Amino acid sequence: MVGAPGAGKGTQAALLAERLGIPHVASGDIFRDHIRRETALGKKVKSYMDQGALVPDDLTVQMIDDRLDKPDAAKGVILDGFPRTRRQAEVLDAMLAKKGGRVTAALYVDVDREKLLRRLSGRWLCTERADHVYHETARPPKKTGVCDIDGAPLYQRDDDKPATIKARMEKQLPPMFEVVDYYTDSGVLHAVDGDQPVDEVTDELMRAIAPPAR
Ligand code: ADP
Ligand code: AMP
Repeated sequence: MVGAPGAGKGTQAALLAERLGIPHVASGDIFRDHIRRETALGKKVKSYMDQGALVPDDLTVQMIDDRLDKPDAAKGVILDGFPRTRRQAEVLDAMLAKKGGRVTAALYVDVDREKLLRRLSGRWLCTERADHVYHETARPPKKTGVCDIDGAPLYQRDDDKPATIKARMEKQLPPMFEVVDYYTDSGVLHAVDGDQPVDEVTDELMRAIAPPAR
């Protein structure tokens, strides 16, 4: 999944992973889990994330390489938030070639920049499961502040504050467009309008991955 912060990658990746029966691997969720557990990696990445900067490629690539070696990844995964730079995309291709796989589809969820601020500043996440994602107006939970699925409290990310959102856009959009170009050139890019109801975006993405037989 490729897209700007707030485009709906996590929301869609969770739905696709469920429909396809494969794991949802979100680089940001894995980093936040390391920060919470105060691991050595968590300590290294925290300041980058707090400033809205990208974590250096070497740390990010190593983390994904380790995740893809876990047995549940053998049948494929939905990668969400990785790759985010051209270098990461190149290393991913090499890494997958070694493991006997490849990038079968790059799904670009396209949303106008003005809409992203509203999406990120209204985002609420489950404290138990990172892929239970809400929005205070567009996808509100049934009970304010509580996850519909497991009843856990919801929280807002520190980097979803306006100043950090601005930094994330400035620092992360230019490399993201390079990733879009990379997958356009390799012929696997599918661009989808992310400014539609969630279910319609999911249906379009499913059609892109597995077009109906003619
Ligand atoms: P990303 O993973 O790309 O940063 P998220 O999936 O976390 O984005 O979505 C950002 C916010 O936008 C969340 O609050 C989510 O509920 C909301 N959202 C996601 N998809 C849509 C959509 N199609 N329409 C409106 N809001 C959406
Ligand atoms: P996300 O949850 O995808 O919005 O990511 C949160 C933060 O984690 C980003 O703002 C980056 O600091 C960091 N991050 C996540 N994925 C990557 C990546 N592929 N490369 C570099 N930094 C990343």
